[in-house]
Amino acid sequence: MSVSQFNPPDARLLDDIRDLVGADGWLDGEDAQRYFDDPRGRFEGRGCLIVLPNSTEQVAAIVRICNAAKVGIVPYSGGTGVVAGQLSIDSDNAIIMSLERMNKVRQISLDDSVIVAEAGCILENIHSAAQEHGLMFPLNMASKGSCCIGGNLATNAGGIQVLRYGNARELCLGIEAVLPCGTILSELSPLHKNNTGYDLRHLLIGSEGTLGIITAASLILKPVDPETGTALLAVKSPAHALMVYREIRRHLGDSISALELMSGLGLDLVVGKFPSLRSPFEQSHDWALLLEATGPLGLGDRLESALTDCLEKKLVLDAVIAQSQSQRDSLWELRENTPAANRMAGAFCNSDTSVPISKVDAFITDTIAAISRIHPDVQINSYGHIGDGNIHHNVFPPAGVTKAEFLASNPGIIDTVRMAINDITRRHGGSISAEHGIGRLKTRDLETFAGKARRETIRRIKFALDPNNIMNPGVLTN
Ligand SMILES: Cc1cc2nc3c(=O)[nH]c(=O)nc-3n(C[C@H](O)[C@H](O)[C@H](O)COP(=O)(O)OP(=O)(O)OC[C@H]3O[C@@H](n4cnc5c(N)ncnc54)[C@H](O)[C@@H]3O)c2cc1C
Repeated sequence: MSVSQFNPPDARLLDDIRDLVGADGWLDGEDAQRYFDDPRGRFEGRGCLIVLPNSTEQVAAIVRICNAAKVGIVPYSGGTGVVAGQLSIDSDNAIIMSLERMNKVRQISLDDSVIVAEAGCILENIHSAAQEHGLMFPLNMASKGSCCIGGNLATNAGGIQVLRYGNARELCLGIEAVLPCGTILSELSPLHKNNTGYDLRHLLIGSEGTLGIITAASLILKPVDPETGTALLAVKSPAHALMVYREIRRHLGDSISALELMSGLGLDLVVGKFPSLRSPFEQSHDWALLLEATGPLGLGDRLESALTDCLEKKLVLDAVIAQSQSQRDSLWELRENTPAANRMAGAFCNSDTSVPISKVDAFITDTIAAISRIHPDVQINSYGHIGDGNIHHNVFPPAGVTKAEFLASNPGIIDTVRMAINDITRRHGGSISAEHGIGRLKTRDLETFAGKARRETIRRIKFALDPNNIMNPGVLTN
């Protein structure tokens, strides 16, 4: 775990910040508690002031005050990050800057197919704003009702439609941000072509609040396809899931927008924890594949004929195709409630690594075997974005054993399991963080698994732009 280097702010500095934002612009004490919650309940944040600026100018003024005094700021958007990037876990001296009051859609340009949204816009609200104009913003994930675009860009979030539309990075044309010195970088132009030196937008995207505070972004909107096909398929193994992917891609090309692997254990778990949900299959299967494709009229027929081929070739054991929006929603609820079900079941490990698609099958086999060698009775729910090579392993205590009891009798098992998954990921040419980032949770893993050139370059960039180390100290580098 990293040791965050936060200098203590003096009372005068805190007063100056309070005066600057006014009575509605800050919180402390009891009111601050919700900013210290970790979505997985593993960490508890700390801090001396929650500040809620309502304009880019206010953000810049606060940053200038903190930079002059070398006081650390933790940027905070929706608080759904799962690697403790938005939580100061070692120090009470952090100033938490929440962008939640900067939640306006500034502009929608239909000709440019671009929406300009402030950093505190909740992702789902951006979806609704795009929909009102007959367009869609493709970034989508189970946390969409709470996470905000500032956090999505700061983590270069992925989600369920990366296969077709890319990560947050691929959906952003321009950025407005406050740099650590307090200068406003205003680059919200919707240009698709702009070769004028370093692309600073891409430096800030994925920087997890360590190089500046994103205050707004120009985002790419896409046309809504007239037809959507959604199916849940029972398959024998991850290898079969990948064969199904190949077969369906042959029929549908790039129309596949989502491809989510779910384990039989995971399906049973989500249905067990959420009694309103039901598995559409009459019998249990070891694995399932949730597939969605969108495209021109006739896509549904093409999907059906692709699935008929898969059934005939015995790649698929059973298939349910959604016949209405409500059936589609029911299938997606199984997947979207999986993270919550994992948490309710006492998961003590939630991995987020990726490997090349060609290695996914071997990766799943090898990791499950390695985790079972560490403890033969743990339960493993492996699921995720198989089309991106991004499989999450969630590991639970054996049936009937609570998480607290299990961790007490198996000290160190969290780190042992995580390192085993990281080792196998590396062996298969993968990345130790596919979509959640490094945060404070994985800084040591980055030290271990990233090459020397990457580590040194990250450090040099960080300290060139933020010599006083005020932007999210302890994240990425420590
Ligand atoms: C149920 C659930 C499902 C999830 N599914 C996915 C998924 O499918 N794919 C995926 O990629 N992630 C997923 N996540 C993780 C999380 O939702 C994403 O990382 C999301 O992008 C974080 O956004 P946020 O607004 O909540 O950011 P926060 O949690 O507030 O912050 C995340 C990081 O970004 C920094 N940051 C926040 N705002 C700014 C800003 N304006 N400027 C600079 N830095 C900033 C923070 O300091 C922190 O380091 C999931 C999380 C949950 C709880």
